[in-house]
Amino acid sequence: MSTTGSDTGQAPEARRARLARLASERFDVLIIGGGATGAGAALDAATRGLKVGLVERFDFAQGTSSRSTKLVHGGVRYLEQAVKHADRSQFRLVREALHERARLLRNAPHLARPLPLLTPVYGALELPYYFTGLKLYDMLAGRANLRPSHLVGRAEALARFPMLKHEGLKGAVEYYDGQFDDARMNVTLVRTAEAHGAVASNHVEALALVKRDGRVTGVVAVDRVAATARPFEIAARVVINATGPFADVVRTLDDPAAEPMLKASSGVHVVLPARFSPSDTGLLIPHTEDGRVLFLLPWQGRTLVGTTDSPANVEPEPQPEQSAIAYIIRHVRRYFDLPVEPSDVLAAWSGLRPLVELGHEGATTARLSRDHTIVTSSSGLVTIAGGKWTTYRRMAEDVVDEAVGVGRLEPRTGSLTKDLPLMGAEGFDQNGYTALMHDRGLPEDVARHLNSAYGALAPQVLDAGASTERLADGYPYIEAEVAYARDHEYACYPDDVLARRLRLAFLDAGAAGAVRARVADLLRSSA
Ligand SMILES: Cc1cc2nc3c(=O)[nH]c(=O)nc-3n(C[C@H](O)[C@H](O)[C@H](O)COP(=O)(O)OP(=O)(O)OC[C@H]3O[C@@H](n4cnc5c(N)ncnc54)[C@H](O)[C@@H]3O)c2cc1C
Repeated sequence: MSTTGSDTGQAPEARRARLARLASERFDVLIIGGGATGAGAALDAATRGLKVGLVERFDFAQGTSSRSTKLVHGGVRYLEQAVKHADRSQFRLVREALHERARLLRNAPHLARPLPLLTPVYGALELPYYFTGLKLYDMLAGRANLRPSHLVGRAEALARFPMLKHEGLKGAVEYYDGQFDDARMNVTLVRTAEAHGAVASNHVEALALVKRDGRVTGVVAVDRVAATARPFEIAARVVINATGPFADVVRTLDDPAAEPMLKASSGVHVVLPARFSPSDTGLLIPHTEDGRVLFLLPWQGRTLVGTTDSPANVEPEPQPEQSAIAYIIRHVRRYFDLPVEPSDVLAAWSGLRPLVELGHEGATTARLSRDHTIVTSSSGLVTIAGGKWTTYRRMAEDVVDEAVGVGRLEPRTGSLTKDLPLMGAEGFDQNGYTALMHDRGLPEDVARHLNSAYGALAPQVLDAGASTERLADGYPYIEAEVAYARDHEYACYPDDVLARRLRLAFLDAGAAGAVRARVADLLRSSA
């Protein structure tokens, strides 16, 4: 799946103003990378009263942050490892992530919600094993628990998940995690940061670091939308490298001899039609050939299955290998009576995990904290890598704390993000879709989609007066969202819209391809 596209980008006035500010002002903190980590850091720093700039070379979330399993979780697999190795630090990581899970759900209730997951059990002894493990998961969450996990009998398991293999099924254990829209969460973080004063631009690449007296004092950047753009400097007291799998590339801009600290691993997902999952319950496949787990989840009206784990090269558009797609289908077949064929695959994509190699040396401060790492070089470049979407807020808090120390910055306050609602959260009503149906005459699926994608801002999408025609048959996305994405959500290219503001390219590559030209027209027509 290509998520970049080759169409001419749009450059409305607001984008030009952002670029002019990046080129002319001096920032307390300049962040390279607009994924979960960079966007989270921009929000954390801006709400502390710091002057923040951010550049993302492609689109926000175009890297790993739009390619996750979309779970807001403590990690049941990490818990199993913690138990097996009696690893207290691993228990602490799971507990912390479970607390971040609760904060994310509270601060962005339109984009994230609790999801029940069934773990099917085929061996009698497995039932107490999974039940005890998932009860421990509840216990670690403590007051942040979503709902208690419990045993589900065979008949109920089959009633709720009729596609499951009947033969040998003993029952299931139900537990809860969160589920969210990763790319929309990412752009919402950027918008919220901007509302607090940050200046953030996508499609601006950091090409080099600027140094004075051996200290990093900014970056040389280029606008990738304007074909004739010249590189320009952005000045900053501290530069944060939040480039995910590309963190080592940016570190070598600082120090060509820097030892690599990351290894990449590719995780592939496939999307299947809706009939492979009930609309309100996910499945945890507890055993895979390579000793991992696999999730099969209802997501945006289709079924998301993943993920795999195999060593990979770092590249901007990793492609899903056929062998990984075959692996996923093989496992679905193993657990399902419902036949599944490669032709059922509507879309597939690969994301790169930046795995931090522990024991990294060669930096003035190398702080291994939680499951992410922050490294500050002798010239003051602050690099953050690792972690997961669920813990983006905690990572952001830690890296901004580090930047404050490195740059001797004077924020107005400490981190405020634990209880900071993201844009669209304030005034959000789970049932707000009914007003959109009655007052605006929208079909239920469209009203539900707008309510959860934009929260309390959903009426704004319609107020612009653009058409409420569907973009693609069978999907709730409407034409008005394209202009909104361009005017309020930084979209420059059709694939910014199709892949990350709406999620059509992730759900159905064919349907997205069929409407790409229409989206390009809509981006141009009312610019
Ligand atoms: C397969 C898979 C499944 C996952 N599932 C989950 C899950 O269900 N739940 C969960 O909590 N976590 C999950 N994760 C983890 C989560 O997705 C990542 O931890 C998170 O997205 C990493 O965000 P990031 O901002 O660090 O990196 P990225 O999202 O990769 O962002 C880095 C950005 O830096 C930009 N960049 C690079 N170089 C430059 C430059 N020179 N100039 C400007 N910009 C630059 C890139 O374009 C990119 O957008 C999953 C990860 C993978 C791979």
